[in-house]
Amino acid sequence: MGVRPDVVVIGGGFGGLHVARGLARAPVEVTVVDRNNYTTFQPLLYQVATAGLNAGDVAHPVRGLFHRQRNLRFRQGEVVGVDWDARLLHLDGGGPQPSTLPFDQLVVAAGAVNSWFGVPGAEEHARPLYTLDDAVELRNHILLQFEAADADRSLVDEGALTFVVVGGGPTGVEMAGALVELVAVVFRRDYPQLAVGRARVVLVEARDVLLSTFRPGSQQDAVDSLRARQVDVRLGHESTVAEVTDRHIRLAGGETIPTRTVVWAAGVTANPLARTLGLETTRGGRVVVERDLSVPGRPGVWAVGDVAAIPGRTGDPLPQLAPVAMQSGRHVARQIERHLTGRSTRPFRFHDRGTMATIGRHAAVAELPGGVRLHGVVAWFAWLGLHILYLTGIRNRASVLLHWAWGYLTWDRGPRLILRPAPSARPAKPDGVSANVGVHD
Ligand SMILES: Cc1cc2nc3c(=O)[nH]c(=O)nc-3n(C[C@H](O)[C@H](O)[C@H](O)COP(=O)(O)OP(=O)(O)OC[C@H]3O[C@@H](n4cnc5c(N)ncnc54)[C@H](O)[C@@H]3O)c2cc1C
Repeated sequence: MGVRPDVVVIGGGFGGLHVARGLARAPVEVTVVDRNNYTTFQPLLYQVATAGLNAGDVAHPVRGLFHRQRNLRFRQGEVVGVDWDARLLHLDGGGPQPSTLPFDQLVVAAGAVNSWFGVPGAEEHARPLYTLDDAVELRNHILLQFEAADADRSLVDEGALTFVVVGGGPTGVEMAGALVELVAVVFRRDYPQLAVGRARVVLVEARDVLLSTFRPGSQQDAVDSLRARQVDVRLGHESTVAEVTDRHIRLAGGETIPTRTVVWAAGVTANPLARTLGLETTRGGRVVVERDLSVPGRPGVWAVGDVAAIPGRTGDPLPQLAPVAMQSGRHVARQIERHLTGRSTRPFRFHDRGTMATIGRHAAVAELPGGVRLHGVVAWFAWLGLHILYLTGIRNRASVLLHWAWGYLTWDRGPRLILRPAPSARPAKPDGVSANVGVHD
């Protein structure tokens, strides 16, 4: 029997896991490498940050997903470099020396990282919502603001209960909607002595609309629903963020809003790992790929999901969304099989099944193929159903369903716990990539 080729997949997110699953019956050995031992369902991170769900509800250990897939191994570690000649990845697994991992076929599925757009003070003082750690830290921080204001009311004047969400895409809209509900319904009961009515949620967006990739009707629905819930929605150039400090946010129009909480939902950029590996990237840092998702000039190397500039029908890169990552992952699994058996590869075609965003209880917008647009309660239930369906793991689905049903019936929220990890338990590195090993060509 011949030796089976080693397929290494960098990243156990939506894209990487679909590559791995797609290779379940292929005559290859698959290794998924991820810096975390779990996969994160990012679309529900805002619910962890606003105490709607437990962190464990939106994440799943990668090893637990593949008990029945005998050709699959998992390796926890951060990819920090590559030796293309020897076809070896360098991993930082937390030990004194980087270790190595050989590959015949390599799939880069490392996702994206938060983008600060060069706004002064944003990286230091704003709070991202990209990883599970971010979501738990944000929840802690929000709860701590209320505890502090309850102990010292003068802090309210200094902005302790003013929460500014930056970015009017789906994440910003969802975060602002969930935060205002948490404050108005739950914190009002938790902090009866505190003038919770003085708490404010401000959503700032530099464009003239929210949900810019949606149609005008959905955009207006989002503005109207949020304003009806008392979210202070600021749109347009004057609302561009000019500066963030630990005490305020300054907008381009000159206004300064005192706040200790700036939630950064302004956008993402491709994982800098692409450049660390020396792969050709677009201006936005995404890996350039051929139509079949192979990396030009690197035989046996592929890229999927957010890290890749996957050409759509028009040639422009597809948006960084979960369905693109899942479909591109499945596609690459099929192409690796074809490639290894000497067959020609096929171009990737994305099947757009629509897009949706939730705003709050009974309020969501959904745009489906064929021009179908849903909003309000119907879209909200559709959003709930779809997220349960796509969530990883049956236990997680059951837990989320229970939390949502409980919250729906009682207006209560679950885990309002301030969990502060000991400093040694915090991740040693930020969510970028240390490039100290780099590329050996
Ligand atoms: C807050 C938020 C909300 C979102 N909501 C939606 C939504 O409602 N609908 C939607 O369609 N999309 C949504 N998205 C986008 C969607 O989550 C992404 O498009 C999708 O996760 C991309 O999948 P991926 O596999 O490319 O990357 P990811 O799922 O991010 O996976 C990348 C993996 O690579 C690992 N990794 C990164 N670098 C390294 C390294 N150097 N070494 C080892 N491992 C590494 C990471 O730990 C991670 O597990 C949202 C994203 C965010 C952040």
